[in-house]
This record gives sequence, C-alpha cells and structure tokens, in this order.
Amino acid sequence: MDKYKKSIALLKKARELTPLGAQTYSRSFRYFGEGYGPSFIERGKGCKVWDIDGNEYIDFVCALGPITIGYNDERVNEAIIKQLEKGIIFSQPSPISIELAEKLVDIIPCAEMVRFVKNGSDATEAAVRLARAYTGRDMIVVCGYHGMHDWYIGSTANHRGIPEQIRQLTKSVDYNNIEALESLLSEYKGQIAGIILEPIQGNGPEEGYLQKLRQLTQKNGVVLIFDEVVSGFRYALGGASELYNVAPDLIAFGKGMANGMPISAVAGKKEIVDLISEGVFVSTTFGDETLSMAAALKTIKILVDEKAFDKFWTLGNLMQEGIQRLLLKNGLEEVLVTHGLAPHQGLVFNGIRDLSYLDINSIFQQKMLEEGILSLGINNINLSHSQNEIKTYLDVADMGMGDIKKAIAANSIKSILKGEKIDPIFKR
Ligand code: PMP
Repeated sequence: MDKYKKSIALLKKARELTPLGAQTYSRSFRYFGEGYGPSFIERGKGCKVWDIDGNEYIDFVCALGPITIGYNDERVNEAIIKQLEKGIIFSQPSPISIELAEKLVDIIPCAEMVRFVKNGSDATEAAVRLARAYTGRDMIVVCGYHGMHDWYIGSTANHRGIPEQIRQLTKSVDYNNIEALESLLSEYKGQIAGIILEPIQGNGPEEGYLQKLRQLTQKNGVVLIFDEVVSGFRYALGGASELYNVAPDLIAFGKGMANGMPISAVAGKKEIVDLISEGVFVSTTFGDETLSMAAALKTIKILVDEKAFDKFWTLGNLMQEGIQRLLLKNGLEEVLVTHGLAPHQGLVFNGIRDLSYLDINSIFQQKMLEEGILSLGINNINLSHSQNEIKTYLDVADMGMGDIKKAIAANSIKSILKGEKIDPIFKR
C-alpha cells in the first residue's frame, strides 16, 4: 500500500536486524497489525504523531503509558536541556536525585524512602527481592502483569527459558478474589514473602478488596507490593494507594513519571527499602542518570499545576460514555466491551460466530489506523488530549464498528482485512 510504503519497506529490513523489528513486543506489528498501518513513527507533538510516510495520527497509546503531558513538550524539553548542559551522569550522585526522592516521598502516601531504576521491570524486581530479603521467605504471589523477570514471566504462558525451580516459587491469583489469596496463604503457610498486584485492573477494585488485602497480608507477615507502573501518574498523583487510601509496604512506579524519559522507582517503608543499604542488591549504572530526573520533576510539576488527573478522568469518562452509546447503537455490546477506569480505558474484543477476538480486533484496528487514530484497544489520556480528539476517536470507532458488523454478517474477515491479523506475543 502506497500510504505505508516506507513503513513496509523498513519493517522488512528491520525484521532481518532485530526481533520483530521492534525493541518492545507491544510496539511491533504483532500488536498493531501488518500491511494496513504504520510500523515506524518519526516524530510527535502533543497528542499527535507522524509515521515515516508522513501520515498523521492522534495517539491514544501514549508510547505504552509514559506520555502523560504530551509528546515533545517544550517545558519538559527545556528542563532536560538545562540539565543536559550540566551533564548526563557523573561518578557520584547528583543533587537532583535527592530533590526527586524528596518529591516522591512527599506525594506517595506510603513512601518513606525511594530507589531509582530505569524500567518498570527493574522496580518490580527490586520490590520482590526486598520482600524476600525482609521476610526470609521465597514464594511470591502475582496478580496482574509485572514485567520481564523470571519470577513473574515464569508464571505465564511465555515461560520458555525459565527454570522450573523458579517457576514453582510463584503463584498467581485472580484480581478481586480475596478467597483465592486466603487459600494460598493457608496452603503455603509461612512461605509467602510478598504479594505483588496491579491495584487497578479492569474496572477497578471491588468495595473493600484492597483493604482486605492489606489486613490479610499484615496478619500473615506478607509484604504487600502495589505494582503502579501503569496506575501511577495516570489515575492520581499518588497512584492507587492515594485513590483508595490503602498503604502497601512497597510500590513500584515507572511509565508515566517523566513524560517519556526512562526512569522508574521502588518506594515504600524505610525498614524494607533501606535493606538495599545492607547489600540487598538493587544497583545499576544508569540509576543516577539525571536527564530523566529533571524530566520527572518537571512532569510532576505540570501534572499538579494543570490539575491533570481531573482532566484525565473527565476526558476518559467522555470517551467511555461515547463508546458505550456507540455499542448500543450498533448492537455490539457482546462483541466489544468497555473496559477500565476513565484515564486508562477502552475496548476488549470478543469472538463471535467463526470470528476470533483477534479477527474482530484487527478489523477495528484497521479502520482506526486508516482514519488516523493510533490505539491498542485500551487508551491512555494525556494532558494534550482535548474533547476534539475524543470526538474524532468516537467518529472513527463508529466506522470501525460498521466494519465489524460487515465481518459478522459475512462470518469472515477475508474481504475486509487488507493485511495480517494482530497476533500478540503475550496473549490473554
Ligand atoms: N508492571 C506493569 C503493570 C506494567 O504494565 C509493565 C509494563 N507494561 C511493567 C510492570 C514492566 O515495565 P517495563 O516494561 O518498563 O519493564
């Protein structure tokens, strides 16, 4: 297709040079589809991005979560440049790291101490290691997605390459199911070091769920870790622990902290986090990199000054209500289901007749891309989105639903989909 000529050519070359032509699975063609959309983005501004063929998109992926203010924001750029002129990283820490640590302790309810790392996975890994060291126990309970390290990914279908002995130390529980945790705690009495969970999943915690989790972990001497890599800096400044007024022992933050710069953190009770001082090993070369810290300080200031979280909820609700109206209008409530809380929400797709959920997802995705919307089903709201972009999204979603109805009527996507289906590496 001419419209995506450069993307198609570069993807072909890229696949020879790097797995799937991307450094993150969910940025690859396996998630966006192939042949009917872009594969490479050249630049962004605010809520818009341009692919290498020059096509423009309104972006609701927000770079998989990091973008909370907007792409290429001048204020954040200025903060980065100001720091760049002093230097990127040094042989000793820079004072800006202490300034940022103080800021996080100030805004995150349970944080008494902070350690900076780079990826969300580094932060969850650090939290799990601290929980094991603190309790002297080995087993971990997981609930949600927690990154690429052995203790978590070994518990999923993508466990190739991870020793069985490690896999046996991790158990999973379903979200909002307190009984499942109770039964694990009694089955493995005295063996569970910590439970790590994404405190906001799907439509959020049922009344009292997080409070019960807090009581149960306290009673059993289990470290409670909130994985706020997604929920932090998206739903509220202090994350889910502020929103629901529940204090875990440790929190992992990442993604939205610095409007795209790579920085994450593990924060929490001093008596646990400070085990790092005793040699519980959490230490990386780039942990003291300062450009990301400058970006984080500026991002947090803008989020506060502009009352970002009120805006994320208002716009997200507008989008969600609009989608719901369209689903009713198109009679698709069983095939497409709204999912998530306003600032991070969208659609999940179900199969129908001979069509799989990925058939339905691909048909919808094709229309979104064709009409200039970049989305992965679930959308993030950032400060540069406005009601106009929500309206455009809804107009295009209506067209996408039209295509889905055609596919259902034909019981086939063959005549509609112009390329390869979406085919995630990490399947639900
Ligand atoms: N926890 C959650 C909830 C996440 O969504 C992710 C990333 N999608 C991670 C941890 C891992 O973060 P990263 O990819 O930055 O290592």
